[in-house]
Amino acid sequence: MADELADTDKVRERVDAYAAWVTQLRSGRSVPELCPDNSDPLARLARELQLLADALARRERELLQLVDLVQTVEQGISLEDVLNRIFDAFAGLIPYDRIGCAFLSDDGAGLTAFWARSQLGPAQVTAGYSRPLAGSSLEQVLLTGQPRIINDLESYLEAKPDSDSTRRIVLEGGRSSLTCPLIVGHRPIGFLFFTSREKNTYRDVHQTVFRQIANQISLVIEKSRLFEKIIERNRQLVEEGRKLEQSASHDALTGVFNRGAIMRLAERAFADAARTHKSVGMIMVDIDHFKLINDALGHAAGDEALTEVTRRLTGALRQSDQLGRYGGEEFLIIIVDATFETISKTAERLRQAIAVSPVDLGSEARAITASFGVAISGGATNSAQDVIAAADRALYAAKNSGRNRVVFDNPDSRIVAVR
Ligand code: GH3
Ligand code: MG
Ligand code: MG
Repeated sequence: MADELADTDKVRERVDAYAAWVTQLRSGRSVPELCPDNSDPLARLARELQLLADALARRERELLQLVDLVQTVEQGISLEDVLNRIFDAFAGLIPYDRIGCAFLSDDGAGLTAFWARSQLGPAQVTAGYSRPLAGSSLEQVLLTGQPRIINDLESYLEAKPDSDSTRRIVLEGGRSSLTCPLIVGHRPIGFLFFTSREKNTYRDVHQTVFRQIANQISLVIEKSRLFEKIIERNRQLVEEGRKLEQSASHDALTGVFNRGAIMRLAERAFADAARTHKSVGMIMVDIDHFKLINDALGHAAGDEALTEVTRRLTGALRQSDQLGRYGGEEFLIIIVDATFETISKTAERLRQAIAVSPVDLGSEARAITASFGVAISGGATNSAQDVIAAADRALYAAKNSGRNRVVFDNPDSRIVAVR
């Protein structure tokens, strides 16, 4: 009787100790290991409790790892960056020698490989590799929404010899795979493919790990994909804007500034000159007897002549000089900080650049010349309009005095033939 009482006290003591241990575990504090040294029912309970504690600790470690993974991955900037981070961060959770990512087309009919990182042999499935979804086993994976394990890719290929993507992955050296659908909300967007060089690599636990994190991973991937689309769209818009601006300010045939743009530049040159007290010079160029080229060789040859004359003018000008097509076969050149001497020399250089050799116009090569009217700001000539009018006057004089020459209209309105 006394023994029984003593036993009951001992049992109560042990139960109290285990209860205290469970309370400690529940509160999240670390607990000492329970190592009962006999095999009575209480000891079995203690061993079960210890297993429960171990399982909880493992779950907690895994959870922390998953949280860590999502945080690491979320720091990715580009989609490629995000996928590279997935490759690095999943290493402790799921075994693999290769991870591939593929996206569904907008209509969901096709799947296109986007990215892969691999420690297997030379890539057989590279970015852009595309397959229809219909009839493929991936369709099934999307229907279930669950990761799928194939633990012997070679036997799988024997059973499904038409599976081109499996054949390629086997060729790369893959022997087992875990295929994980990426689903945002209820919308499938693609797949992550984990591949191992060993058979029988994947277990239920790997499916479970991916399932736990599937939503976040899918979301992060989709977010960075959308972000990239926005960046790409923005780049296109900037490019379109640049093209629009280019076509609004440039002549389609010759590529130099059009009349509106060169006039605006002339006005701006005068506004700047007012501040910097520099002179502004203008050269007006008009091709001689251009109509004859059109009449004799046709409009296309005329266009070619215009293009070649533009090339020769551009080649003989400095970067800072501005050239625009002022009218049909007339050009206006703006030269800032010009003197009578420098601008006259420039005009003469331009005249020679055009006249130097015949221009190939398809059916024949033709000597082309142009006349030049030059003017410079100063005295009474102190606006863009004034200088353009003066250059025009000089050009008229150049035409009247025999063409293929440079004539200068100086600020005192004295016409000076340079050549
Ligand atoms: P001048 O020596 O007096 O300047 O004689 P011209 O024949 O060059 O002058 P005119 O003003 O009589 O003729 C200019 C010609 O330029 C008429 C027009 O059809 C042609 N033209 C204007 N723009 C273009 C163009 O973009 N392409 C082509 N092929 N011809 C053009
Ligand atoms: Mg002409
Ligand atoms: Mg003309």
